[in-house]
Amino acid sequence: MRPDSEAPALTRRQALAVSASTTAALVVAACGGSEPGGTVAAGDDRLEPTPACGDAGATPEQAEGPFFIPDSPERTSLLAGVVGGAALVLTGRVLGTDCRPIPGTLLDFWQADDTGAYDTGGDRLRGHQFASGDGSYRLFTIVPGIYPGRTRHIHVKAQPPGGSVLTTQLYFPGEPANELDGLFEPALLIEAEEGGDRVRGRFDFVL
Ligand code: FE
Repeated sequence: MRPDSEAPALTRRQALAVSASTTAALVVAACGGSEPGGTVAAGDDRLEPTPACGDAGATPEQAEGPFFIPDSPERTSLLAGVVGGAALVLTGRVLGTDCRPIPGTLLDFWQADDTGAYDTGGDRLRGHQFASGDGSYRLFTIVPGIYPGRTRHIHVKAQPPGGSVLTTQLYFPGEPANELDGLFEPALLIEAEEGGDRVRGRFDFVL
């Protein structure tokens, strides 16, 4: 399968991000989540504090890439028809910059399979859902594979009720390829940890 042609446009912020350490990659825009507004600056005192809700601004926009297909199925699990890959449960909330939840926000996810391939003729590893009353969501999927030119990532579109669409991508901490990918953005890192039989991740959208 042809890899994304998401031409990296290296902004100053991204250039700074690429030069940052793996530890820096763990700095996540935690907005009302489990992370306090502290730092993970071990070994690097130049790092900025983890942004608190309202300080970080909105979740950054990213390239859509060539593999988005409209009208994905409504479902919280993308596991149908998937063979291989480490199970991933991604949870989080959708919040406004005022830190209030945005119930009913449409979240449309699509991603590569364990081999780094997208399903371009069907809906495997594609699906949308709506944030619940407290703005929370839960996605059951796999950790996507890596394909040439990109680090590991999940694509997503987020649209609050009556609002505009945010297209972005989510990244995984501790990936060596993060620092080689011009699109990589630390503010889009999933907080991920291996636990039991699956990977558990958290990401809060700020719209
Ligand atoms: Fe992609």
